[in-house]
Amino acid sequence: MSADPTQQVFQMIDARRDELIELTRELIRIPTVNPPGDAYQPCAEFIGRRLAKRGFAVEYVHAAGTPGDTTRHPRINVVARREGDAPGPCVHFNSHIDVVQAGAGWTLDPFAAIVKDGMVYGRGACDMKGGLAASIIAVEALIDCGAHLPGTLEISGTADEETGGYGGVHYLAQRGWFSPGRVDHVIIPEPLNVDRVCIGHRGVWWAEIETLGRMAHGSMPFLGDCAVRHMNAVIDRLERDLYPRLAARCTDMPVVPSGARHATLNINSVHGGAAEPCGYPAPCVPDSCRMVIDRRVLIEENLDGVKAEVRDLLEQLVRDRPGFAYRIRDIFEVQPTMADRNGPVARSTAAAIRRVIGRDPEFICSPGTYDQKHIDRIGKLRDCIAYGPGILDIAHQADEFVRIDDMVNSAKVMAMAARSLLLGAA
Ligand SMILES: [Zn+2]
Repeated sequence: MSADPTQQVFQMIDARRDELIELTRELIRIPTVNPPGDAYQPCAEFIGRRLAKRGFAVEYVHAAGTPGDTTRHPRINVVARREGDAPGPCVHFNSHIDVVQAGAGWTLDPFAAIVKDGMVYGRGACDMKGGLAASIIAVEALIDCGAHLPGTLEISGTADEETGGYGGVHYLAQRGWFSPGRVDHVIIPEPLNVDRVCIGHRGVWWAEIETLGRMAHGSMPFLGDCAVRHMNAVIDRLERDLYPRLAARCTDMPVVPSGARHATLNINSVHGGAAEPCGYPAPCVPDSCRMVIDRRVLIEENLDGVKAEVRDLLEQLVRDRPGFAYRIRDIFEVQPTMADRNGPVARSTAAAIRRVIGRDPEFICSPGTYDQKHIDRIGKLRDCIAYGPGILDIAHQADEFVRIDDMVNSAKVMAMAARSLLLGAA
């Protein structure tokens, strides 16, 4: 064994490569598909049982009454905490245990966790059971090295990230589990590539716009007022006025891919006219047309301004277009968030990447959101980043995989970063 304590931890992680693979496979084989939120309890208990053997105090938190929580699909979270030999900071690794539906297009069984060509395949391999397994091996190696570290290590496995985190980190943050004083530094092992430190994400506003018309017989459309044509006028205004403005707005956040450095708006869906229950359209003028928009928000923008911009455009149409009437409804919103890249957790993770991977890490922000928003906005804990082994583009795809070398390397990075944070050396 090397005399350098960091090198000792690395050697221990290398020696546990097979254990890391097996742990990832066991996690993938528990099909925690969300929605609906299957198998949270066995998955949380699997993690809890393992960590209890290493001296962690394990608590299961049932997010009762949150969306989707039923007797059949209880929202169960696990939080494991291990206090060290002396007082010191608390370093927390948070992973979501839910995965999205397998979907079509797989060439292998999505829940068999097959190992092939240096990769583990399966739904959740990349997002994010590979990262969860790497963080567990990292923390266990730190403990087993026998060095007397001050401070506290925590690992949580949380529910519902894929559907907004309300039965997971949102619930825990509201109840103080992520409050400064209890926790100081958080690493979320989301799949953002093994050499990148993700310091935040853009915000989101989802809304439904409905245009209103008047029904009439399809053979005499002049007797009615077509809601779909009114919606066309909305889309036309978006194209003409809003899209160029959004494209001209560019953020200082280091969002990847670079196209997402601009403010963006997706039209998620448009529904207009009568339903077609037997495959036959009805000869009616539609009196309603609905559109769902997904607006992604830069840190330089504010949500009120973002909403006002769309409302102004609709109000202009009320003035300019005869018969134009609309309703707008908020569905969902998230503020953008960004941690300090010179903060302790970003700095220590970057230093560990330099040592383990041998190159300068890239600091990035995510185009979409993840649970950091709840830790920052509700928990008021700013020193939080995402760092994990998976490849971002592979998440949610068929034949999802995680590279075993990336898991081993990211476990070393997490162990080294946690060690320097506990020692206050970051
Ligand atoms: Zn994820």
